[in-house]
Amino acid sequence: MGHDSGLYDAEEAAAATNAKATAEVKGGGPQPWSEQVLIDCDGVLAEMAIPPDKAYWGSPELIPLQEPGYATNVATAEGSHALVKSIRGIGLDITILTSPWDDSPTWDWDRRIWLKREFEISKYDVIFSKRKWAVGGLTLIEDNAGHARAWAEQWGRPSILINQRWNADQYTDRSVIRVDSLMEAAVAVRSLHAGYNRSSQ
Ligand SMILES: [Mg+2]
Repeated sequence: MGHDSGLYDAEEAAAATNAKATAEVKGGGPQPWSEQVLIDCDGVLAEMAIPPDKAYWGSPELIPLQEPGYATNVATAEGSHALVKSIRGIGLDITILTSPWDDSPTWDWDRRIWLKREFEISKYDVIFSKRKWAVGGLTLIEDNAGHARAWAEQWGRPSILINQRWNADQYTDRSVIRVDSLMEAAVAVRSLHAGYNRSSQ
């Protein structure tokens, strides 16, 4: 079958334009799994305003969290800046993987403002989802054992759980690395990254 060369050229040009557009979108989005570390916010980078081991849900004490601006003022957790610096220092990208919140009309927006201000993390690197297992990465740093287990099972790679009193009794298996501090989490990330480099050679 012959083809009209003018039409063929137009198709090629369109394909090249589309490929360029796709590359631009991907360039601004999450990087390949081996280069990005997924990090949860509450209980990891951010201090928990209301610890989940308290029976607060639905109580008046939660109302301030629903007010606009609340998430822009949460305290950063001890060691959080050092963790972010350490991960970037070994050439890995950070993608924030945090749950959206239905009860506040501004929570997600406020959280993005906070992440940009505190850690220079841009909107391209923030994913709001309750399905954390659906996002791939080198590892996931979490404070919820359920998310940590489901993620590790999905990707066949260890996740990292920050020990908190609310997850002390939550079940974890060997696919979840438990650590006592964000400093220990940074060490675990380094060792996973080094392991990946070795196995890929
Ligand atoms: Mg959390």
